[in-house]
Amino acid sequence: MNFLTQLIVGTLLAILIAVLAWRVGSLSGSGSWAAVITGGLIFGLGGLPWAILLLTFFISSSALSRAFKQRKVILAEKFSKGSRRDWGQVLANGGLGALLAIGYSIPAHREWLWLAFAGAMAAVNADTWSTELGVLSEIPPRLITSGRKVDRGTSGGITLAGTLAALSGAVLIGIMALLFTPASGWLSNLVIITMAGLAGSLFDSVLGATVQAIYWCPTCNKETERHPTHTCGSQTNQVRGWSWFNNDVVNFACSMMGAIVAAVMWLLLP
Ligand SMILES: [Zn+2]
Repeated sequence: MNFLTQLIVGTLLAILIAVLAWRVGSLSGSGSWAAVITGGLIFGLGGLPWAILLLTFFISSSALSRAFKQRKVILAEKFSKGSRRDWGQVLANGGLGALLAIGYSIPAHREWLWLAFAGAMAAVNADTWSTELGVLSEIPPRLITSGRKVDRGTSGGITLAGTLAALSGAVLIGIMALLFTPASGWLSNLVIITMAGLAGSLFDSVLGATVQAIYWCPTCNKETERHPTHTCGSQTNQVRGWSWFNNDVVNFACSMMGAIVAAVMWLLLP
């Protein structure tokens, strides 16, 4: 397939998926537009291998967001947004991938850009899996920085179940990437992508425990990521973190960490 055909086919595929995702309620209107642009660049410039990794992330994380909804409504009230992703969330998870795809379209440095992309996808997938599945754990999480026990859903809190879910999410992206890797590179690529995913997800927790903007609802006496108003309608006040460092910035940083760890490991490993 030549460059222009692939770009057109990729964009059409992105439009089709964005419309479907909007109709089933996985994306908002603004989220669909952002998905057309990021998906079009990733499919159109990266081709089939990049498309498979993006779709693995998108489909598995959308499915997990919708699963166990009843339990999560009770437990996961602290999450700042629902399962319908808006443009900020789409760019936070896929924006770096789209930038890497632009770099990949220039025929140099292709191998490390592909691994950096896989690392970024592994990180956002690991993070989504740990968020969606970790919140179901019966054991209260501990803050990644101090080890202090915190309420379920608290930013920066980790559990064994959530960490294993993150590992599984990263491994899945690694296995899908192997479909496009010669057998001699299977082990090293699987290790690189899994480590990158896990590192990104843990970095996400560290940011959640330190610099992420966290608010307080005086009516419910609860910490929340919601701002300016809580689910109950009360105004929330910032208690810690930097006000601009919201959940979307945290997720973008998570994907960046995944990409950097993958690229550095590729450089260092024989
Ligand atoms: Zn409230």
